[in-house]
Amino acid sequence: ATPTSIMVGTGKAAENGILFKGGEHLERTHQLEAIVLDKTGTITKGKPEVTNFTGDEKALQLLASAEKGSEHPLAEAIVAYATEQDIDLVEVDDFNAIPGHGIEATISDNTILVGNRKLMQNHQIEVGGAEQEMIDYEVEGKTAMLIAVNGEYRGIVAVADTIKETAPQAIRELKKEGLEVIMLTGDNERTAQAIAKQVGIDQVIAQVLPEEKADKVKEIQLQGKKVAMVGDGVNDAPALAIADIGIAIGTGTEVAIEAADVTILGGELLLIPKAIKISHATIKNIR
Ligand code: ADP
Ligand code: MG
Repeated sequence: ATPTSIMVGTGKAAENGILFKGGEHLERTHQLEAIVLDKTGTITKGKPEVTNFTGDEKALQLLASAEKGSEHPLAEAIVAYATEQDIDLVEVDDFNAIPGHGIEATISDNTILVGNRKLMQNHQIEVGGAEQEMIDYEVEGKTAMLIAVNGEYRGIVAVADTIKETAPQAIRELKKEGLEVIMLTGDNERTAQAIAKQVGIDQVIAQVLPEEKADKVKEIQLQGKKVAMVGDGVNDAPALAIADIGIAIGTGTEVAIEAADVTILGGELLLIPKAIKISHATIKNIR
């Protein structure tokens, strides 16, 4: 590989909105065999909206007030929904984010829990008939969260995030380039499968805790594959760093961009197969 041809390659990539941090990353992109993509904010737009709420007004008030303390996109969706419904948010006395599970808050004398099944199980909360309703939302690709107040189940809130329009085409092109495509998410299996189906991904790793994302990438490497990781969140940073090529979504967090080897501007997924094509063309020219 001559330094000049590599420079021409990274220059061409940059013109297209693909920012390589160095020429060696372009050479490694050429060798990729598998690609792992985060779901929220990478495959989806990362702008979820509440589509369903089951519960009374008091539960909604406590729910939204508690979520006000969270920076999670799911929380933003819930707060926006309550605001639209003219719900007055109340002061939170204590707040705790439980990564991969949900949140816990204290509001005057009430303890509020919002999150997934695991969170409810860990607090021994009986959700009874909520299970079927959860499943109904999840098969549609929605993320359903359970709400409990003072140890009792009080409702469900479901949120939908839409896929990026060009995601199916990007996945198709990645497969055409011979890459194995895998989705990685903290969300539940059913929701993940529904989104994966919409974009044409058949391998899904779901319910992965934030701190486990890097381990999953490592497992693929241990199978002897050169793997890229694509992500936008703070949660994705360790996985982006450990991957053979870390690809950050330009619209994502600073932490992800710093951990990655490449950044794609505007979060346009079509730039990923484009980067791979440029890497192939560059390396071919060298030979
Ligand atoms: P993702 O990979 O989609 O970003 P996370 O690991 O952040 O997922 O979260 C996994 C799951 O934990 C969510 O699908 C949701 O059920 C629950 N969760 C996380 N944050 C919150 C929150 N602020 N409120 C309610 N539930 C949450
Ligand atoms: Mg994400």
